[in-house]
Amino acid sequence: MKNIFSLLVMALMILQAFPQPDRWQQKVKYTMDINVNVSTNQFTGKQRLEYTNNSPDTLSRVFYHLYWNAFQPNSMMDSRSRELGKISLGKSREGREQLDWDSRVRDRILNLKPDEIGYQKVLSLKMNGVNQSYKVDETILEVKLSKPILPKTTVVFEMEFEAQVPLQIRRSGRDNPQTTVRYSMSQWYPKICEYDYEGWHPTPYVAREFYGVWGDYEVKITIDRTYIIGGTGYLQNANQIGYGYEAPGAKVMRPAGDKLTWHFLAPNVHDFMWAADPQYKHLVRVIPNGPTIHVLYKNKSGDPKTDTAWNLVADAAVMVLPFIEKNYGKYPYKQYSFVHGGDGGMEYPMATLISGPGLGTAFHEWMHSWYQGMLGTNESLYAWMDEGFTSYAAAEITAYYYGKMVEKNPDNAGLRQMVDQMNKQLPLHHAEAYNGYFALARSGYEEPLSTHADHFNTNYAYGLAAYSKGELFLEELGYIVGEDVRNKILLEYYRLWRFKHPNANDFIRIAEKVSGLQLDWYKEYRVYSTKTVDYGIDSLWEEGGKTKIRLKMIGKMPMPLDVELTYMNGSKEVAYIPQYLMFGEKANETREIPRKSFEPWKWTHPTYIFEISHRLTDLKSVEIDPTQRMADMNRKNNKLELTW
Ligand SMILES: [Zn+2]
Repeated sequence: MKNIFSLLVMALMILQAFPQPDRWQQKVKYTMDINVNVSTNQFTGKQRLEYTNNSPDTLSRVFYHLYWNAFQPNSMMDSRSRELGKISLGKSREGREQLDWDSRVRDRILNLKPDEIGYQKVLSLKMNGVNQSYKVDETILEVKLSKPILPKTTVVFEMEFEAQVPLQIRRSGRDNPQTTVRYSMSQWYPKICEYDYEGWHPTPYVAREFYGVWGDYEVKITIDRTYIIGGTGYLQNANQIGYGYEAPGAKVMRPAGDKLTWHFLAPNVHDFMWAADPQYKHLVRVIPNGPTIHVLYKNKSGDPKTDTAWNLVADAAVMVLPFIEKNYGKYPYKQYSFVHGGDGGMEYPMATLISGPGLGTAFHEWMHSWYQGMLGTNESLYAWMDEGFTSYAAAEITAYYYGKMVEKNPDNAGLRQMVDQMNKQLPLHHAEAYNGYFALARSGYEEPLSTHADHFNTNYAYGLAAYSKGELFLEELGYIVGEDVRNKILLEYYRLWRFKHPNANDFIRIAEKVSGLQLDWYKEYRVYSTKTVDYGIDSLWEEGGKTKIRLKMIGKMPMPLDVELTYMNGSKEVAYIPQYLMFGEKANETREIPRKSFEPWKWTHPTYIFEISHRLTDLKSVEIDPTQRMADMNRKNNKLELTW
């Protein structure tokens, strides 16, 4: 009863203390109509864009992305990839030289033939019925407006364009030999750049990261009638299309002609992706009071194992959703689709393109619906808040999933062994990310997380920073504020910042408010620096029947310390030393082990001495952070075993 009451008080306090942030957002409403020629791999399109300027600024120009122009010889993407290919990261175990370029891109763009390149050509552009003059420079279209867009007003852009689908190089394109999927259609339309409190973001398409304006999409795709489409959006004319989209028991009435027009609506999303192939198989899972899961995949070889694997993706997605929603917030859309295509895995609103039925990738991309789809941080600037947080959650989801599978299949010894093995590695569920980060920190290639995603010196450093260090950021935050508080922070972050493009500071402010601790120092060190943590045990001695323990700070990044003391009689105790900069302490996380709090450690002091009321010979071992959640670069000096 008491617990319920204090939970209620806590909930009320949270509601009162944290009003919704009022950061303005631009708004879009796209209406697009395209007609695809599957023999030339080209299409023509019309785009109507209602653009609402909710900013306090008068806009005299606007920018659009024309992503597919990157897939042309000598483009910025091509040049960048070939330059990264000149960097050798050393030799692999098999003795092969590891070059830094993306193995999917390499120098392939340079060798594209005219019918294999990608392009998006704008044929005309009007604003409120008036022709606009514009300039295209590769992947960015700049429009100097005939009349400025005033604050709090809406204008209508009308565009005619044509495009050629590139041979699959990266993310989007046609005929990837690996998947054989005909069309992976991401970044396929001219898309207005985001304008936010930092101004325009006309980021040229060099390698990665997408940042878009939330709004509504109405898309009509006319394509050869044998093609089956999956992607973002709810199909409006399902009973005219069929292919598994029709209502249960409905009779499919397809209009006559060589082509079909698929009509989609997607509310409140920042992008629209689709993929098409005549041989897609379509699986559907309806979650009661939840979204419908679609899986569209090809089974080229007809191997029944392939069908089983894709069915497992559908079932696993259904199984993990309650866990995801409980820990990371509600999924508000009516649908989510796993679509075979692309290369690797890439997230889009309401859908992902994945090149195979791996569950790890499926969970990761599904989870992106939260951090990329709904939180939508500017990934160029804060890739780690998307990829890292997504990786963090995906690791938790994976552990949850296999835990459930063991419960369901108690006789499966192999499965149990795998899970036991997984649970042996520390920090629990996130050891891989920590090891990735440690390798990066030792490599000499590390750059701060605050580096723009396209501007890291190497793909290697970008990847480990965004994914591994970003995942570590949340797990280590859990060490600082306590696991339960970290989990509350994630839910508050979702509740307060979804559909608002939060930045690093917005996240850390939520963490401070929920935890009651100062955490600016954690952000400064982890996000803006590459400084590392290393604490060690220096010495122990006895004075007047009591034991003194001296610890030392070897690394340059300060942290609070959990020090576990194990006594000869088998009992344990935690000595907790908060970091001075926190101005507070976390709650005791291990209720079964008594904890004693000591004075905060001032980071300017290289050593710290604390005293315990036991004889030295009572002690069996002393260990700094036995959970290994603190990313200590050298754990060898963290534990001291005593023999008497
Ligand atoms: Zn990702």
